[in-house]
Amino acid sequence: MLFYTHLLLGIVGFLLLNKYFSGGYEWLFLLFVLLGSVLPDIDDGKSKIKKASGIIGSVISFLFKHRGILHSLIFALVLFVLLSLWDIYYAWALLIGYTSHLVGDVITPMGIQLFYPFSRWKIRGPIRVGKFGEWIILFGLVVLVIKELFF
Ligand SMILES: [Zn+2]
Repeated sequence: MLFYTHLLLGIVGFLLLNKYFSGGYEWLFLLFVLLGSVLPDIDDGKSKIKKASGIIGSVISFLFKHRGILHSLIFALVLFVLLSLWDIYYAWALLIGYTSHLVGDVITPMGIQLFYPFSRWKIRGPIRVGKFGEWIILFGLVVLVIKELFF
């Protein structure tokens, strides 16, 4: 999925789930969701998040292959546990965003290994990145966001 589709998926995740969590600033919760929604692609040398994160992104994208460990639910849970040592509220936010990213990538033909490194089993779908199917999804997400915000 493209950068903006991932952000929109994160926003939808936030709008649907944020009411179940409390214990901090809602705007910061949203920022953590948005960060989580694009963070896995830091392993992609051409991604916006990799470029925006400077040397850290360069090192990570050099060390890890795209859609490898960073695109794993296992890694998302490890991040969740680590962040929850600091603050459970924002750890949930990052997990929501991160999971929304994985959902977005699961439906593409390249797919992801959801349980890497424990399993190399790959889940994939028919929606090709940047093609017609993704634009339909993008449109659907925009409609969902408008519905959640105004109706
Ligand atoms: Zn990705």
